[in-house]
Amino acid sequence: TGQGTAQAIASAEAHSAHNYHPLPVVVSSAEGAWMTDVEGRRYLDMLAGYSALNFGHRNQRLIDAAKAQLERVTLTSRAFHHDRFARFCEQLAELCGMEMVLPMNTGAEAIETAVKTARKWGYEVKGVPDGEARIVVASGNFHGRTTTVVSFSTDPEARAGFGPYTPGFDVVPYGDVAALEAAVTDRTVAVLLEPIQGEAGVLVPPPGYLAAVRELTRARNVLFVADEIQSGLGRTGRTFACEHEGVVPDMYVLGKALGGGVVPVSAVVSSAEVLGVYRPGEHGSTFGGNPLACAVGLEVIAMLRTGEFQERAARLGDHLHEQLGRLVGHGGVTQVRGRGLWAGVDIAPEHGTGRQISERLMDRGVLVKDTHGSTIRLAPPLVISQEDLDWGLAQLRGVLAES
Ligand code: PLP
Repeated sequence: TGQGTAQAIASAEAHSAHNYHPLPVVVSSAEGAWMTDVEGRRYLDMLAGYSALNFGHRNQRLIDAAKAQLERVTLTSRAFHHDRFARFCEQLAELCGMEMVLPMNTGAEAIETAVKTARKWGYEVKGVPDGEARIVVASGNFHGRTTTVVSFSTDPEARAGFGPYTPGFDVVPYGDVAALEAAVTDRTVAVLLEPIQGEAGVLVPPPGYLAAVRELTRARNVLFVADEIQSGLGRTGRTFACEHEGVVPDMYVLGKALGGGVVPVSAVVSSAEVLGVYRPGEHGSTFGGNPLACAVGLEVIAMLRTGEFQERAARLGDHLHEQLGRLVGHGGVTQVRGRGLWAGVDIAPEHGTGRQISERLMDRGVLVKDTHGSTIRLAPPLVISQEDLDWGLAQLRGVLAES
């Protein structure tokens, strides 16, 4: 570790809360799938900001859209209309096959918005007695870090010490239709799920699960809310991970890549019946739907409409999973899960923890993030070349072979 790196890390340790444990690399610039640190070393980014960087670092189309908007107007607040707002909402609704959009900034805020929306729909449309709405969620979920959202987390690290917790949530095992069915009552307003659980280790539910959830929620007049914040917008080889099972939920919750890695942009997207429950003053955000966010988001939507990123994620994803599959068994890997350019790789314990593997990959110029002890997660930008992807995989094979 060079002096510039050591100093920056020591200073961050002294002056910032220790709510993260970053790898010891200090990035100063980036382009496409590559980042450069303060020492001038280059790294292949195989995490892509937890899928916020699906289109790569500083994608030219997104940078151009942002720059053009910076020259016009950046923020109005929602006290006034601005000339990017309507188009953003219209185009996003169309991309989702839905009718209305409620824009926010971060993923957790959009989840909070989804919770509020589902409850209000429950009281005003479904007819649930006031204050009694319940939302069913899955074990192992990750939906963000706010007090209400951690209230229904099953991860002690995320939850312990942050009570009192928001009531009104029922947790069932992920992937278990019978448990879900048993948990739904006439007070249930929504089932909130990640179609693939990202932070849990890229867990793909059993085939037929999402379709069964769709059928059940429709039959019981319950909203199916899909948190596609990490799984959506091209990552799995489709615009939405729900599409792999031909499922259309009642509400998409989007974030991360919606802001192109440039600005935080999130949104709840749903029908007029559902988002129509709001009247002025009942919900909002100073920055939600701001002109800069809408300009970048519009370019993201335009890029997704061509289908080229989804196609690329599907093609390179097949290659990624074929290559990773070869490591299962004797190659140092016990299991690989995922879809498209997204993989959770469980490392055999004799090769080290996920953290140790991540550090050794960093020494070889590849940046990934471990999760849950023995898993590393691979989610490179969708713009990565097959050559770079193969180089990254060769580094993983090298790390596993020498440990
Ligand atoms: N939902 C999912 C599925 C996520 O993966 C994340 C972030 O990792 C969030 C919600 C929270 O998003 P944010 O960190 O922008 O609040």
